Amino acid sequence: MSADATELPVVIVGAGLAGMRCAQALANTGIAVILIEKQSRVGGRVQTDEVDGFFLDRGFQVLLTGYPDARDALDFDGLDLQDFAPGAIVRIGGRFHTISDPVREPATLLSTVKAPVGSLADKMKMLPMKSRLSRMSLAEIFEREELTTLEALRDRWRFSPTMIESFFRPFFGGILLDRSLQGSSRMMEFVFKMFSVGSAALPAEGMGRISDQMASRLTSVDIRPGTGVRSVGSDSVVLDDGSSIAARAVVISVEGPEADRLLGENGTHVYVGTHCHYFATEHAPVSEKLLVLNGEGAGPINNLVVITNVAPAYSATQEALISVTVLDDPTSVSSVELETDVRSQLTDWFGPVVQHWRHIRSYHIPVALPDQRPPFLSPPEKPVRVRPSVYRCGDYVDTASINGALRSGRRAADAVIKDLSGAS
Ligand SMILES: Cc1cc2nc3c(=O)[nH]c(=O)nc-3n(C[C@H](O)[C@H](O)[C@H](O)COP(=O)(O)OP(=O)(O)OC[C@H]3O[C@@H](n4cnc5c(N)ncnc54)[C@H](O)[C@@H]3O)c2cc1C
Repeated sequence: MSADATELPVVIVGAGLAGMRCAQALANTGIAVILIEKQSRVGGRVQTDEVDGFFLDRGFQVLLTGYPDARDALDFDGLDLQDFAPGAIVRIGGRFHTISDPVREPATLLSTVKAPVGSLADKMKMLPMKSRLSRMSLAEIFEREELTTLEALRDRWRFSPTMIESFFRPFFGGILLDRSLQGSSRMMEFVFKMFSVGSAALPAEGMGRISDQMASRLTSVDIRPGTGVRSVGSDSVVLDDGSSIAARAVVISVEGPEADRLLGENGTHVYVGTHCHYFATEHAPVSEKLLVLNGEGAGPINNLVVITNVAPAYSATQEALISVTVLDDPTSVSSVELETDVRSQLTDWFGPVVQHWRHIRSYHIPVALPDQRPPFLSPPEKPVRVRPSVYRCGDYVDTASINGALRSGRRAADAVIKDLSGAS
């Protein structure tokens, strides 16, 4: 490589968590980095809007404090994390029932045992599953045969159909954004382990604070928001306005389908979507810091949470903020009809008072998570080198999660650093 070429920057396309993690790792070694983002701000799928005195995450999501790469990349204290309580409230048989982790919350043992969410044997099976997965390393989890989540819950962990329908379908359905439970068992067991070794948490002022924190550390990186990339080569990127930027190496850290387009590859990456509806009310319908799961299957709602029970600062007033998640369905109705259906189901659950809940905003996120059906995690880490001087990262090359995005960004940076040190 010529002396001039070594002075060129590494250009990273896409400033989600993967791109920012990659930028941070490269900048830390003194490499010049330009980080290009088509949206007006960084963060990709982890962003929070301020609307009418509320912090609204763009889709309900949580940070699992057990995530190893998040621990490495983020300052958890600086995020002022607010923990969910372990367990869930499950809507089943026209009533709400609370199940918890009796090891962490012994006072809930009786209500958990009595709750008609699976059998006593099902609840007992959670304990060895938790302890076994907690003890297993991530490498061991990712070496286990990759089944669908449904197959693993039914055949490997031997849960009853009732337990799967009433608890696991809405629980993992909400996490993997797939109620069919056809997603990878490796992902399911990874997530279960993360819940077992840590907690689910929200930054006090919204998930977007994760992105803000990462961006605040990129002081030596030339960040260019509001700049779309039209195409990439091994030594340059072409922007939407037709201008180009010469690059020492290019890292593509966009969503899978967009990466296919930029690389001129036939699209193989399919994503699933979700809707998130926000409501405000003076009186929260539940007081617990728990996820409410639809264990009945009927109706559009998969899960909801009173966000302000967990993180009060999401609301600047005394009003409670409720986040309702509906999973994308190809046969789904229009957004207006969906909102009507959601409110009608909420009324069924919580009574006529719901008619007074104030609708704040709804989000539809069509590209939310990669479709994680097997063999999605075979291998668990996809290569980050695409061709000489061109790399990729993003949640679709790792576990589809905050952790996976961060990990992939770190892996791409390591590959760039290694290749550049060999080339100089
Ligand atoms: C609703 C929802 C719920 C979720 N729940 C959870 C959860 O509870 N826990 C969890 O761990 N994970 C969750 N996730 C997943 C997690 O948020 C993502 O896996 C992660 O944020 C992906 O980061 P990324 O950097 O790979 O991609 P992205 O965040 O998508 O970043 C890609 C960036 O590239 C930019 N870009 C695209 N094309 C171009 C172009 N041509 N030029 C320039 N820039 C471009 C995009 O604008 C974007 O900013 C959830 C995601 C969603 C949407």
